[in-house]
Amino acid sequence: MERENQQTSIPSALIETDAAIIGAGPVGLFQVFALGLLEIQAHVIDALPHVGGQPAALYAGKPIYDIPAIPECSGRALIERLMRQAAPFAPRFHLGRQVQTLQRQPDGRWLLGADDGLALLARVVVIAAGVGAFQPKRLRVAGIDAFERRQLFYGVDDPARFVSRRLVITGGGDSALDWAIHFAALAEYAPASITLLHRRNGFTAADASVARLRALCDANRLRFMVGQISGFEQSDGKLTALQVTSPDGINTPLAVDTLLVFHGLTPRLGPIADWQLALERKQLAVDTEKFQTNQPGIFAVGDINTYPGKQKLILCGFHEATLAAHAARAIIAPEQEGRLQYSTGDARLQRLIGGGH
Ligand SMILES: Cc1cc2nc3c(=O)[nH]c(=O)nc-3n(C[C@H](O)[C@H](O)[C@H](O)COP(=O)(O)OP(=O)(O)OC[C@H]3O[C@@H](n4cnc5c(N)ncnc54)[C@H](O)[C@@H]3O)c2cc1C
Repeated sequence: MERENQQTSIPSALIETDAAIIGAGPVGLFQVFALGLLEIQAHVIDALPHVGGQPAALYAGKPIYDIPAIPECSGRALIERLMRQAAPFAPRFHLGRQVQTLQRQPDGRWLLGADDGLALLARVVVIAAGVGAFQPKRLRVAGIDAFERRQLFYGVDDPARFVSRRLVITGGGDSALDWAIHFAALAEYAPASITLLHRRNGFTAADASVARLRALCDANRLRFMVGQISGFEQSDGKLTALQVTSPDGINTPLAVDTLLVFHGLTPRLGPIADWQLALERKQLAVDTEKFQTNQPGIFAVGDINTYPGKQKLILCGFHEATLAAHAARAIIAPEQEGRLQYSTGDARLQRLIGGGH
């Protein structure tokens, strides 16, 4: 999803908005649409550098069967469809930023603060934070952290900066393979200057990606190596080589300029626990009328919430987002409270998506 979703990067400043959504997973994305139908525009913040939450990060290539009216689609395709559905409402995305603070202001609005200094002042906040902010699993090699953000990276924000002489990508999932394939296709790379390193000769990525990878290896565009990074060499403060240990214990040096690590993601509830919101077993307690937390104007939808009978399913999150949107409108535009308009008869919506002629 990363390359398709190089959305807005807004400089750190105070942004005033009606609605802020924390989390760009499937439920956060549908929340954009549900609010948009009620003429409420939203800003969306996510800790990941791409949209899509769990379906994009954990099972992009795997099929989902229980989305109403879509008999089968992959995690990636579901997110693409949700993005398309939300697009007419022009959501503003702030990706790669974790919301750290949430404070009520004297005028009743909520001030959100992100880890990079971004601040949003919102009349309502919808927390669609899933199982927490995703953080990359880090490489456990003593001392290698010193090269982070210079030669060692856990994500790709700007692919152009990774075009280098010797690129090593480690991991065996969709992200590792997608990026290995992406870079191997670029003419800037000399044959076999890209190495994909994985601890075993097997992948958890989509079958089509594995087939493409094998073809690139056969064409000498890419080298595949089985092993794990156990040490490194440096010269003048620069990372120059990795020590790779094979499954049978043989150490081999591997020259490197840039190291990209995709060892999976760990969700962390993190700062949400400090926002004075009622929690039950690390989930936000909500009512089932508005999906509001114990703080007025703060809603919680999707995997992050809990209530009697809760099921952590995407379609349940869609329902929650719909009711939360109507409750949000009662705060933002109380004069319109209770008004129900079908999308089939919504002239504004038809104009927005180009069907109003
Ligand atoms: C392997 C697997 C298969 C699944 N299959 C199905 C299925 O077939 N059908 C189904 O209905 N469900 C399925 N699920 C469950 C489904 O993926 C979840 O119910 C769904 O992703 C929940 O969506 P969400 O938007 O609530 O949260 P998430 O998808 O978890 O997204 C939450 C987002 O919030 C961000 N975030 C959290 N905290 C912060 C913060 N403080 N600041 C900024 N960003 C933050 C995270 O980075 C994340 O991107 C599956 C789950 C897994 C793991």
